[in-house]
Amino acid sequence: MVVLLTFVIVACSQKENPETQVVETPIQELNMPTPELNNIIQESVIDIETLTPEPEEINNDPVLPEYSLKVEFDYSNQSARVNQTILFVNNSKQNLSDIRLATDTLRYPGSFSLEKVFVNSNEEKLEQGKHFFTLLLNEGLAPGEEVEIQIDYLLSIPPLPPPADDLKPGIFGYSTVQTNLVDWYPFIPPLSENGEWLLHDPWFYGEYLVYDLANFYVEIELINVPPNTTIAASSIPTSQVENFYAYSLFGARNFVWSLSPSYVIETKELNGITISTHTFPFHQQAGSHVLGEATKAIELYSSLFSPYPRENLTIVEADFLDGMEYDGLFFLSRGFYNIFDFTPQNYLTAIAVHETAHQWWYASIANDQALEPWLDEALCTYSEILFYEEYYPELVDWWWEYRINYYQPQGFINKSIYEYQGFVPYRNATYLQGAKFLQSLRDELGDKVFFDFLKEYAASQKDNVSSQTYFFELLKNYSEIDFYNSSYYFYK
Ligand SMILES: [Zn+2]
Repeated sequence: MVVLLTFVIVACSQKENPETQVVETPIQELNMPTPELNNIIQESVIDIETLTPEPEEINNDPVLPEYSLKVEFDYSNQSARVNQTILFVNNSKQNLSDIRLATDTLRYPGSFSLEKVFVNSNEEKLEQGKHFFTLLLNEGLAPGEEVEIQIDYLLSIPPLPPPADDLKPGIFGYSTVQTNLVDWYPFIPPLSENGEWLLHDPWFYGEYLVYDLANFYVEIELINVPPNTTIAASSIPTSQVENFYAYSLFGARNFVWSLSPSYVIETKELNGITISTHTFPFHQQAGSHVLGEATKAIELYSSLFSPYPRENLTIVEADFLDGMEYDGLFFLSRGFYNIFDFTPQNYLTAIAVHETAHQWWYASIANDQALEPWLDEALCTYSEILFYEEYYPELVDWWWEYRINYYQPQGFINKSIYEYQGFVPYRNATYLQGAKFLQSLRDELGDKVFFDFLKEYAASQKDNVSSQTYFFELLKNYSEIDFYNSSYYFYK
């Protein structure tokens, strides 16, 4: 994510973001429940272990969760009726006594109305938390065992909120020109190595969700839509007949979509990858610019990091003041389009390639966005300067001055989102100090070793949820220097 507020305000007045005034209270607890096995489950483990394959075999070939989502979206009242089926196989080595369902839409009052839940065809109840449900499994779910969860619900899409200084911009919502469905369905977060569901608390800034890979089958019917309404989504539809859209997306972190009667769509192909922009009509030229720059970024990052991990990239102009990455799709604020000056020397370009880089550092190589946000944000911010070095070397100094040094960034880069006192300190540390750290690492290693390291990091963590620990472990293979302990960028 990149929040635009700072830039707009700085551009207008050359003053710091008023968000520096925001003082948040540190979180008291991170709400990471530990599933406890009850006696019955512990007894049954003994039997199950003798009947199920070796854990090694399970882990070598994990079965991805499957989400089937049938959606009837009514534009006239901005609501969606959803029939969702999750097929989930316990890929862990332990018996599960419950399943957590991350449900971000519960954070929006009145948005999520649960109708019915069936577990293996039996009607069940869910326990509701403030941003999740818990399904208690009376008989447990053994390693290798599958469960089918059907959830029927109604979504009432909230209006996109007006910009606020102390809250991150809303993305799930509708405006007069756009409806965005992001993190719109209950999903099962990853399990940590010690068997805890990796679901943290939401926060005022930054991202808090961690995503496993999953397969998605999504069918959307639009009703009562204005003429010319189109959908931009994480993947390209496998079929579209009038207002019926069908999608299949395999091995992705999430499936998001946005619809509008106003999108002007432009498309490019690069080595079998379809890149498209969905732009509001008055920003068509800026949209074309974004399309060209994102395509160049894909070409560069494919050669520097790893082959582009998806079949498409869908770029959507956002009717909110934010840029935000999702799998196969990112939003880019209309604020950036508004100030487009027909050059690459602007935030429209820098943030477009930043969000493009998230298809590597977030989608392909995921991380715990709440506890280690620097891991994707520093790499994406640094990816911006790699883009300028390649295509606009004359703008390299401008980028360092305008994007980084202007803010005189400070702070340890490796804290959780909960530990920074507001968005600006968080951004200055994880994004800006993060980019400076990566530059210092590159200066120390030299270009060849630095890019060899990044390539191996990308290849070895493809489809995983990576970690800072892994990053520095791998780095030891490339240098004698203990960068983590010797660097003042890291809180120890
Ligand atoms: Zn970002």
